[in-house]
This record gives sequence, structure tokens and C-alpha cells, in this order.
Amino acid sequence: MDAVPPRPGVFNADMRLKAVFEAALDGIVTISERGIIEMANPAAARMFGYEDAGELIGRNISMLMPQQHAAQHDHYIQRYLDTGHKRIIGIGREVPGLRKDGSVFPLRLSVSEIKLEGRSMFTGIVHDLTLEKKAALELQQEKERAQQYLDIANTIIVVISSLGIVELLNDKGCEVLGYAESDVLGQDWFQTAIPAELQDETRSVFRRMMNGEMAILDYYESDIVTRNGDRRLIAWRNAPIYDDAGAIRASISSGVDITEQRAAEDRIIRLNAELEQRVDQRTEELAGAVNQLLNINKKLEHEIQERRAVETALRNSEQELRRAYEKEKELSELKSRFVSMASHEFRTPLSTILSSADLIEAYTREEQQEKRAKHTGRIKSSVSNLTGILNDFLSLSKLEEGKVGVQPGLFRLLPFLETTADELSGLLKPGQKIYKHLPEHDLEMFSDQKVLKNILFNLLSNAIKYSEAGSRIDCTVEPEGDRLRISIKDEGIGIPQEEQQHVFTRFFRAHNAENIQGTGLGLNIVKRYVELLGGSINFESELGKGTTFVCLLPIKM
Ligand code: ATP
Ligand code: MG
Repeated sequence: MDAVPPRPGVFNADMRLKAVFEAALDGIVTISERGIIEMANPAAARMFGYEDAGELIGRNISMLMPQQHAAQHDHYIQRYLDTGHKRIIGIGREVPGLRKDGSVFPLRLSVSEIKLEGRSMFTGIVHDLTLEKKAALELQQEKERAQQYLDIANTIIVVISSLGIVELLNDKGCEVLGYAESDVLGQDWFQTAIPAELQDETRSVFRRMMNGEMAILDYYESDIVTRNGDRRLIAWRNAPIYDDAGAIRASISSGVDITEQRAAEDRIIRLNAELEQRVDQRTEELAGAVNQLLNINKKLEHEIQERRAVETALRNSEQELRRAYEKEKELSELKSRFVSMASHEFRTPLSTILSSADLIEAYTREEQQEKRAKHTGRIKSSVSNLTGILNDFLSLSKLEEGKVGVQPGLFRLLPFLETTADELSGLLKPGQKIYKHLPEHDLEMFSDQKVLKNILFNLLSNAIKYSEAGSRIDCTVEPEGDRLRISIKDEGIGIPQEEQQHVFTRFFRAHNAENIQGTGLGLNIVKRYVELLGGSINFESELGKGTTFVCLLPIKM
């Protein structure tokens, strides 16, 4: 080709063509009929890893193809040359390219035939597909990964177009429905998966959601029917898929098969109800039993109370019986002690009486009157002694039986004391003397004279009896507030310390008094009398030195 000199300022067609050829992003290669490269632009050289087109020109086009492909290419060229078959010409075929470094890459090849000066030439336009291929591969991988996620998901995932056609159903969905994905893709979802009697309603709701008449239900439960006619209850969650224009073009739903769960729930609810019923029944039975128990309890309690009352009554009567028995025992003891005491105490006066009576009988003469009188005196005093013992015993049994009542009266104290002391003077031993310390002024008492006399008589007779001839006895009487203090002090044998606690017990007799006559009843009677008059009695005593009894009695009882 001859070069035409360009006109200044104007690009001629050749120059433009050349510029396009040089600057084109796709590669342009021209080969002869024999496959020899006649022209190549820089893009083509770059694409195949050569520095410039010069490295390509004059060489066979097969240098740009992997070996196997080159052989095929040769075969095509041969057939072309042999038969004029134009199969070599094509638009946008994807073929492999071979780079200078030996690596293979995908390219799109469009070939056109040019007849120039009776000779055929072929121009190939090559476009590197490496990047596009890579992007497509990545997209594919991405899709596969997404599908994997969908398939791994344990929920049914289904995409339904706005016309109700299934666009996607994941593995779980296929498993539940019993179809292969290919069976359902492109099919009507409602006919495929919804039970016949629900199809119309479900479809109409779906249609209204798709055309925006109602909001997409975020959650609902519905029955589906599987390939073999089973029904499953699915809980669905839905979301719209929009097209580029922002209109809803499909819905994606994820569903969980809750058939078993619901059945279990129903069973639990049923069991619960049954259980409640049974509990109610049992509670009623129990309440009945409890009521029965309560009644029995009440009866038992009543019985127990009755029994207790009977027991108490028994115990009381037993106590009464025991008390009566004790009393009886005491009395019989008292009697036997009295009998033994009497047989002992009566013996002396009785033998005195007997011997005196014998002697009186012997004193027959007139002049023996004095002796007779002496013995009748002895007899008298022995009898009064016996009378005294019997009186003591009588008053004791009267006291025991609670028959002694006080009969208080007004009397003057001093005359009363004088006569009482006088009455006792017959008992005094030779040389014994009672010293009376009486109040200066007489005073009036309101008490039982007989009882008071008995008290004084007993205390003074003890003082006389338990001290030697010639000893002194002090009887001091003085008012002390509203009481009268009577103290009787002797210088006699005293009461042994260890026996003092028994002094007021009846029949008590101290060991140092064994040889002195007495019944042991006197002080017991005194104590009871003092109490009858509302007073108290105490004593102090020292063995061999003497004893003092002190009485405190109300002046006006
Ligand atoms: P009864 O008074 O009945 O004739 P009794 O004098 O023996 O007999 P209580 O007057 O009750 O009986 O006295 C009990 C005992 O207390 C006496 O036997 C004696 O041992 C002792 N006793 C009482 N008074 C005195 C006293 N003043 N001095 C020493 N001992 C006394
Ligand atoms: Mg006495």
C-alpha cells in the first residue's frame, strides 16, 4: 500500500483508520489464506504477551493457539482451502488463546473474510475474556454458595413469582414436599403444594399481597400437601422481593414444619387437661377422705375428752379414797398408840390407887385417920391424873375431828392469870417457885378463856415437870402492840437440839424425858389451840440449861 501524504490540518481516511487500528482495545489480527499473520495491532500483541506486533507479523497464527486447538485450526483452514467452506468465519466464538509465556486464556474471536486484489484475507477481532470469565466464575460460585446456604438451611425456602410460579425451592423444601427441585421449578405453587380445598383462598390472598392490596403477611401457618398426599403444618415467614422498578415481583418464604411440634403441643394440652381433671378428681376424693378423717378426729377427740374426764374423776376419787385411807390409817395408829400409851401411863396411877386402897383397909384404928387421909389424897390425885390423860385424849380427838370451836368472850387478864397460877401450885415440886411478871395495868381480853387456860396449864406444867425441885420458873406476860406476849422460862433439863423439830408432834417424847411421866400429847394440843386463837408459838431450849416457850396471841381476836 502506498502512503498518501496527508493534507495539512486534515486527517485523511487512512490516517483515521490507522489511529483506530492502533488505539483499539480489542486485538485486530489479519492473516493470509495460509494462516500467516500479516498485520496485528498493539492491543493484539499485548493480549498475547508480546512487546509489539513486529514479533507476530510473518508468523503462523497457530502460535497464538494452544496446540490441540491449533491442530483443529489447521484442519479448518485445510478444509477451507479444499472446499471453499466458510466455516472458519464466525462471530464472537469463544476460543482459547496462547500467550507468549505459554499460559492459556479465554478470548472471543470474530473472524471476517476480506477479498483484496483477488486474494482472500481474514481479519480476526479478539477480545480478552479473562476478567469477564473470572467475574462470571465468581458470580457462579457466589450463587452456588447461596444455594448451599439455602440447601443447608433446616427450613423450607421457596421463592414464588407474583404469578404464583415456583422460582426456587431448597433441599429442605424438596425433602418435605417429596419432589425434586426440577419437578417444581416453573410449576404453579398452589397447585403443587396447597391442599385442594385451600387453593382458591390461598391464591387470592397471595395475589392481593403481590399487587399491594394487602401487606405481606409476616407470619402465618398453613397446611401443605406432599407428593404422597400427606399433610404437613408449616409456619411461614415471608418477605417481598422487588424488581428494579421497585414493584413486588416475587415473595420469598421460609417455612418450618411444625406438624410434630403442634401435635406434641396438642397432646400436651390434652394430657394437661386430663391431668387437671384427674387432679380435680383426686382432690375431691382427698377432700372427702380428709373430711372423713376430720370427723373421725372429732369423734376421737370427744372420746378422749370423755375418757380424760372419767380419768380425772377416777383420779379424784382415788385421791379421796387414799386420803380417807390415810386418815383411817392415822386414826388406827393413833388408837393403837393410845392403847400402848394408856396401858403404860395408866399403870402407875392405878397401882398407886391399889396400894393406897390396900393401906386404907389396913389402917383400921381411929388414930390412923391421918394416914388414911394421906392415902385417899394419893388416890384422888392419881384419879385426877388419869382424868387429865383422858381429857387430853378427848380434846385431841375432838381437834382431829374439827369439833373444837372457840367461844370468845371478854375477861380481865390479871385475875385470870392469878387463878390459873393458883390452880397449878399443887403441882410444884418442893422449893419450886413461879415468878410472875405481869403488866402494871390490867387489860381486857377478848378471847376463849378455857382454851387460853389450857395453853398456860400445859406450858407451866411442862416447866414444872421437866425441872428439878427448888428451881425457878419465870412467867412473863406483856402486851406487844395488839398482841399479848406470854413467855414461860424454866431452868430444867432442856430439849436435845436434834429432837427440837419434833416437839409439836403428837406422842413425841424426848429421850431425856423417858423417866418422867407424860403422853407426848400436851404440846401438840397447845399448838393447835394457839392457832385456834389466831396466835403463834415458838421456843428456845438448851440441853441441861432450860427452856423458854413464847406465845403471841391477839388481845382481841
Ligand atoms: P403430857 O404433857 O401429855 O402429859 P409430855 O409432857 O411428855 O406429856 P408434851 O407436853 O407434849 O408431852 O411435851 C413433849 C415432850 O417435850 C416432853 O416429853 C419433853 O420431852 C419435852 N418437853 C416439853 N416441855 C419441856 C420443858 N419445859 N423442858 C424440857 N423438855 C420439855
Ligand atoms: Mg406436857
